[in-house]
Amino acid sequence: MDSRKIGILGGGQLGRMMVEAAHRLNIQTVILDAPGAPAKQINALHAHVNGSFASADSIRELAEQCDILTYEIEHIDTKVLEEIDGQVELQPSWRTVRVIQDKYLQKDHLSQAGVSTAESLAVEESTPVCLAEIGRKLGFPFMLKSRTLAYDGRGNYVVKNEEAIPAALEALKNRPLYAEKWARFTKELAVMVVRTKDGQCFSYPTVETVHEDNICKLVYAPARVPAGTMDKARRLAEKAVGSFWGAGIFGVEMFLLEDGSLLINELAPRPHNSGHYTIEACPTSQFEAHIRAITGLPLTPDSTTLATPSTNAVMLNLLGPSTFKIAREALSTKGATVHLYGKAEAKVGRKMGHLTVVAGSMSEAEYQAAPLIKIFDDEKS
Ligand code: ATP
Ligand code: MG
Ligand code: MG
Repeated sequence: MDSRKIGILGGGQLGRMMVEAAHRLNIQTVILDAPGAPAKQINALHAHVNGSFASADSIRELAEQCDILTYEIEHIDTKVLEEIDGQVELQPSWRTVRVIQDKYLQKDHLSQAGVSTAESLAVEESTPVCLAEIGRKLGFPFMLKSRTLAYDGRGNYVVKNEEAIPAALEALKNRPLYAEKWARFTKELAVMVVRTKDGQCFSYPTVETVHEDNICKLVYAPARVPAGTMDKARRLAEKAVGSFWGAGIFGVEMFLLEDGSLLINELAPRPHNSGHYTIEACPTSQFEAHIRAITGLPLTPDSTTLATPSTNAVMLNLLGPSTFKIAREALSTKGATVHLYGKAEAKVGRKMGHLTVVAGSMSEAEYQAAPLIKIFDDEKS
């Protein structure tokens, strides 16, 4: 299909599912991550690179062996990407990764592109005086966020009132910070958008995400919102992704506010947890769409629809110790498909796998998923 080798920075579950998609198309992949990483376990074809996506030397070593580099994570040293650009093709562009990996730069970029986001202010100095001033401007509560290296809410702190400022600064000490106005959302929505090499953007259906303890727990696809909201969310996501550079899949997280308006929370320049349902529910998964986009293989708007007009899906993340109990139960659940990531230690809150229940209606998908969600909840308490 394509004889060029794809190097993937990061070999966790997203890398693993990218490998699955690439291999079905006979496209070879080489992984940069620690030995035995999830993506390496299912890819015994090549000499992978042992190291970290955070190390410039490891990235150079991977680039030597590959024609195209892509990422499963945005927390990468973009200086080295800039340096090797041209020697190897980078998709999406290092510029995109550089802007997105700093959540404040990302917000600034989006507002300049005319995309509505949660109002954000730079924290010039991490001091109580500076944060009290921000509290006056944004109101309380506000969200204090690390600009970099954030995931699963690790890097966020809800500042409830002025008295909470010292604790917030302590929780996020030594990290570059910015502040966001509190979004009184009724739902969180997400849209996967794939951008082709010639800059066309195709979006998947709008989905609804449910977070618990800052980690995505459930995804309902399509979202249980009016059709007008679904369309508005897709247009907003396409506009946001259209303002970046290079090819690939992007995850766009949004807040739906009480008045029906939408704000972008953040973007990811890679496959995203909210798009896992596409493996079973769409003609082309987010992982295959990514591989096709970065290699320039054909992709049409028909690839990113639901499989049939009545396809509905519920995705449940499998986190920590309850993973295997739920996964086993799901094997006898109608319409369910289980994905396990090959991670050794089932630490609390760690993403160990996910499952997707597909049905001909949302009520049927919810009905089939309910006992599995119940085990998730029971095992947690
Ligand atoms: P990940 O990258 O894993 O999605 P993250 O660490 O980058 O997470 P965010 O997406 O910024 O974190 O925030 C995590 C969750 O916190 C959001 O999904 C939302 O539920 C809540 N949240 C974030 N920002 C705000 C805000 N401004 N107002 C209200 N809630 C917020
Ligand atoms: Mg994030
Ligand atoms: Mg997020």
